[in-house]
Amino acid sequence: MTNIPTIDFTGKVAFVTGAGSGIGRATAVAFAKAGASVTAVDISEKGLAGTVELLEGFGTKILPIICDVTSGDSVKAALDETLKSFGRLDAAFNNAGIEQPAQPLVELSEELFDGVIAVNLKSVFLCMKYQLEIMLRQGSGAIVNTASGAGVLAIRGQSSYCASKFGVVAVSKVAALENADKGIRVNAICPGIIDTPMIARYTGDTEAGRANIIAQEPIGRMGRPEEIAGTVLWLCSDAGGFVTGHAMVVDGGQTAGI
Ligand code: NAD
Repeated sequence: MTNIPTIDFTGKVAFVTGAGSGIGRATAVAFAKAGASVTAVDISEKGLAGTVELLEGFGTKILPIICDVTSGDSVKAALDETLKSFGRLDAAFNNAGIEQPAQPLVELSEELFDGVIAVNLKSVFLCMKYQLEIMLRQGSGAIVNTASGAGVLAIRGQSSYCASKFGVVAVSKVAALENADKGIRVNAICPGIIDTPMIARYTGDTEAGRANIIAQEPIGRMGRPEEIAGTVLWLCSDAGGFVTGHAMVVDGGQTAGI
């Protein structure tokens, strides 16, 4: 047997959005630990500074960039910087996102709907648009976009969030089909309930709030950001080389059934 795949990103370049917190931070760290040079993108300067501190421990190259992923110009500039610094782009994790406060559709404002769609969905379109230009020139690359369990299952009180995440699954599949024969794979990841600052905000960070949300998880606990990072690295590596156009749930059984 030859070419048994390993998850080693030595000499490779990874681009991670939402890298200043939670799932994005854990994934930026995992890429660095696996040997990649990492562009870490976030809108929060403070969050990004915390991630850079963690990344510095791995001795790989780090490029932190403050960027609002809802702006095409800013996203393009971040990718131009990446090419200038590292010369290529092998793996992209388009993950920045925001939550929607639980609210029935009839009460949801137009502004809130537009805001969630811009950060969670339009950003994924913009990131892929400019990443694919680079990857098409290279003839290689792998992209993972963060959807959610809310991207495969409707949740009451989450119309804008579900719309954004179903949309992420849709654009990921379209991009996968358009580029499958060009050496580029595109997948979506659908995390269940993961213990991050986003979930702390959503539950009010109280014991009762946490217990309430853990009750939705057949596995009986929240997931850890590192458990999403591990799957993202697998999807971006040669070990996941035959996987494209997939929306992979990593959710403790949350969407398996009732
Ligand atoms: P988080 O709030 O801990 O981290 C999100 C990061 O995105 C933050 O650092 C934030 O500053 C950044 N961000 C927000 N808006 C941005 C913008 N316009 N430009 C650039 N960066 C921006 O949240 P998390 O739980 O790590 O979530 C990461 C992703 O995972 C999101 O897309 C979220 O919807 C998704 N998700 C989370 C869970 C969960 O249970 N935590 C479950 C399913 C999906």
